[in-house]
Formats: sequence, C-alpha cells, structure tokens
Amino acid sequence: MKWQIPVAECQALALPFENNRGTTPSRRDKPMNGQMMQQPLLISSLLRHAERHHGEQQVVSRRVEGDIHRYSYRDLAARARRLAKALAALGVGQGARVGTIAWNGYRHLELYYAVSGSGAVLHTLNPRLHADQLVWIADHAEDQVLCFDKGFLPLVEAVASRLASVRHFVLMTDREHMPAQTAIPKLLCYEDLIDGQDDRFEWPEFDENQASSLCYTSGTTGHPKGVLYSHRSTVLHSYASALPDALKLSARDTILPVVPMFHVNAWGLPYSACMVGAKLVFPGPGLDGTSLYELFEAEGVTLSAGVPTVWQGLLAHVQSQELRFSTMNRTIIGGSACPPAMMETFEDRYGVQVIHAWGMTELSPVGTVCTLKGEQLAWPKSRRRAIQAKQGRSVFGIDMKIVDEQGEALPWDGQSAGELLVRGPWVVERYLKGEKSPLVMHGGQGWFPTGDVATIDAQGFMNITDRSKDVIKSGGEWIGSIDLENIAMAHPAVAMAACIAARHPRWDERPLLVVTRKPGAQLGRDELLAFYEGKIAKWWTPDDVVFVDAIPLGATGKVLKNQLREQFQDQLVGRA
Ligand code: AMP
Repeated sequence: MKWQIPVAECQALALPFENNRGTTPSRRDKPMNGQMMQQPLLISSLLRHAERHHGEQQVVSRRVEGDIHRYSYRDLAARARRLAKALAALGVGQGARVGTIAWNGYRHLELYYAVSGSGAVLHTLNPRLHADQLVWIADHAEDQVLCFDKGFLPLVEAVASRLASVRHFVLMTDREHMPAQTAIPKLLCYEDLIDGQDDRFEWPEFDENQASSLCYTSGTTGHPKGVLYSHRSTVLHSYASALPDALKLSARDTILPVVPMFHVNAWGLPYSACMVGAKLVFPGPGLDGTSLYELFEAEGVTLSAGVPTVWQGLLAHVQSQELRFSTMNRTIIGGSACPPAMMETFEDRYGVQVIHAWGMTELSPVGTVCTLKGEQLAWPKSRRRAIQAKQGRSVFGIDMKIVDEQGEALPWDGQSAGELLVRGPWVVERYLKGEKSPLVMHGGQGWFPTGDVATIDAQGFMNITDRSKDVIKSGGEWIGSIDLENIAMAHPAVAMAACIAARHPRWDERPLLVVTRKPGAQLGRDELLAFYEGKIAKWWTPDDVVFVDAIPLGATGKVLKNQLREQFQDQLVGRA
C-alpha cells in the first residue's frame, strides 16, 4: 500500500495534498532556501561594473556651455564618488531628495549615480512644466537640494523664494561660468563641490528596496503623482530592457538618448548603458534636427531613443538636406504611438530599424517592445509592418491583460479592446504620499490600471488603440483615435494630426481631425477625408477636419488632447 500524509498534516507542512497521492514524501520534506549569495541589486553596482569592465568606454556630451565634453566611464565613476562626498558634506542623508533641472549631459549622469548610489533619492524635474507646477512638485517631494543647468538660472531665480524645502541651490557649471550676480542666495558651483573632494569613497550597501529616484507623472488633470523607484526595480528594469528582444543593448552600441533624463529617467538608458558598457552620447539642449544629426554622425551613434515629435524634426532636416545615416541602425520610438508612415520612412529610405515601445512613468517605463518573432521575419512586408505598428510584446517581468468595463478579462484575439492592466517588479504599487494604492484586484492579484485601451493578439502583441479618456464613443461604440491619426499622418501633405471626440447631436461623439500641413503643402478637408476610403470602416471616418498652425504639445512632447477638446468640442454641434 502507498503511504500518504493525511490532509491536515499536509496543510500544516504547506504541502499540496494532490501531489501527495501515490507518492511517498518524507515527513521531513519542507521548503529549502537556495544557498546563493544575497547581494542587493543596487544602482552603484552598475557604475562599479562600468568602471571595472568598460573603464575606457566614452561618455560624450554637448555641454550647455556649447562645446563638446568627452571622458570615460572611469572618469565618470571617480567624479560620481567625489560628488557623493560633496553631497554628504552638504548634509544630504539617506532618503533625502535631490532635485535636478537639467538636460542630458555628463553632470546629470554623475548626479544619477552619486545621489542614488549614496542612498539619497534623485528627483528629476521637467523644466517644460509651468513654474507653479514645478514649485508644487518640488514642495511635494520635499527636495532639499536643487541642481540645475545654467540655461535654467532665470527659471530657478524666479521660483527660488517659493521652494520652501530647498536648502542648497547648485548651478551645474564651473567657476568661470558662474553668474556675477544672482537672486539666489549662496548659489553653489557644481565644479567647486567636486573639486573640494577626493574620490576615496566606498558606495554604501543597503536594502535593494530602498528608494533610488523619483519622477512625477505628466498628468494632464489634477496634480502630478510621484512615482518612487527602488534600486531593485531600477536594476531589474535595466536587465529586462537590455534584452535582445527588447532594446538589444550591447557594449558595441553608441547610444544617444534624445528622450530627456527628466522623462522617466531617459527610459532607463543611463542605467542600462552602464550595465552593458555602451558608449553614451548626450545632446544637451540641442534637440533640433541639425544638432542631433551632427552628433549622430560625428560620434558614430548606432541607437537613439525619443518620442515621435522629436523624429519629425530630425527627418525633416535629413530629407531637406538629402543626408544619410552612416552608423545609426535602429531607434526606439515610444511615449506616443509611432505613425507607421514614420516607420516606413526610417526603414525604407534610411535603413534604420524602428523599435516601437510602450511604457509609462509608472512602469519605469518599459512595458512592451515590438520586435518580431522568428517566423514573422519571412512574412510579406505589409504584414510585418502591420505588426510593427503595434506596441509589442511584454518584456519578461511585465504581465498584462485586458479587461472590459465590467472587469472581465478579454480574449487575446487582436480584436477585443479593453483597458490594459499590468503587474511586475518595476510597476508602481502606490504613489508618493498617496493614501490609496491605485491597484485594482483581479484574479486575487493587484494590477495597475494603465488607463490605456488596447487589444492583444494571439501572439501576444499589444496594440494601444487609445487613452481611455481619449476614446471616441460614437453611438455607444468605441472609435480608436490612434488609427485615425496614423492614417492622416500617412498623407504626404500632413505634418501632424490629432483626433478628438467632438460633441454630436445624434451620436454623442464623433471623430474630429485636427491637422497641421507640411510647409507649403496644399490640402483640403475633402481630399484628406477621401484618403480614408478603404482604409477603415466607413463610419470611423472623421466627420470634419480643422487645419491649424500648431498642435499643442505637453512637457514630454505629447499632444495635449484635453486642450484641443476644450477648443473644438463644439465643432460638430448642430450637424445631424
Ligand atoms: P508617460 O507616463 O508620460 O510616459 O505617459 C505614458 C502614456 O503614454 C501611456 O499610458 C500611453 O498612453 C502613452 N504611450 C507611451 N508609449 C506609447 C506608444 N508607443 N504608443 C501609444 N501610446 C503610448
């Protein structure tokens, strides 16, 4: 007879009774811990690795002062240690928040490592926000130190007296470029702080769950919310985002993040580049097409990253000057949907692969990346392109599902659209000082509701059709604005397009297209609407087109649809 442990004993030993049937587990069986080292995942370890294994690798920056600065990971690590000592001397302790208002550059990178590495929290502020919003955010975060680029001196001078928690203001420049006079009392010079210390410093060890950095959501309604990353979440995010089916980062890459270091930590690239030992190139404030192209070519950039609006400027420059990219082979586009027409231009005309990615401040930010699976490589171009326009597959670590309005899980059939829920070790659990966790319970687990509406196909490719607040509800049916925008953007005369819900007497809401034309291009309403024929269901076709000189963009380069709705929501009222 087979020996069995009784159910009650199984429960006491936390053994599943079913698995016990017919087997003969010993009464001594119990879970065992692995016997591997417990080494906390700390941001300082990324820098230590870069220094030791890629010490000669370069970090190149176009400085705010105008010139090109060049040094190595070894120099970066030494200066970050000196800076950590200087911050400690200023009284910056564990958990203290250090704010930055700065472009992408080597000094900002030093702060990334010095602040987090010493156990304080790096808080990157977005200088494109309104001054009142900046003050609110710095106050909410209780920033003790504020480090900023020279170009932001007038901005900081204007708000300094309102920044109640800030004890030290640091201008990120050298003595020579310090202002003779300033309204900021006891303004410190960044290079003086570094010069005042040597680099004999050991990065402290602490719990990997300790907070490392802080970003506020770009929330268009209500106050922004603080997302507090940990060392563990940041290091895991770096591992995952560097994977071959994600951003495919390596020591052979030269990475130029156009995405600002104040926009979700430049999508984690300052960390993952150190992890893999890639060369880093920082553009400083020069984000126009001409300056970027110059750096791409001069520094042999292989990979870049940014929101679609940035690439419009770059492509316009490259096209008008009939230039080519001699080294860049891929670019990550995310933050908003990448129009397929932009992908085609990059790939077909310039041989640059577009890696379409989706993420959020709340996800550190990478959630999904659109890289093809093996069998798809052999598909005809049009079929491949249809996949590449999607936001892609989840990277390992991110679980996702879509749910309907009742919270029922929807099938992965590429058709059913619902709210996208995600979970994973680099997804926010609660907001800074938030009383309530934003998570929703589903199947006994907490999930983060992204506010995005998406489909997922049988192969796991997720496609964002809209933000839930931007969805157009026509006669009770949803119309996805992103599809409509992508079609308009494919028209050769269209520079930018945004589709919003306009109030309609019969259908509640109907799509209204707001468009800017390319310089010198001729395009009328009827011609543009005719362009939709055969491309989508007829009832999805926008009811009208408004041509404008400029479409309003927010602080991270995304279209401000709430502003457009305020302006044009009554455009269709009175039409049957
Ligand atoms: P943020 O937290 O400011 O980075 O904004 C995150 C939001 O940007 C997401 O919830 C999406 O609505 C949008 N987003 C990010 N990446 C994409 C993408 N590739 N396609 C469409 N929307 C995107």
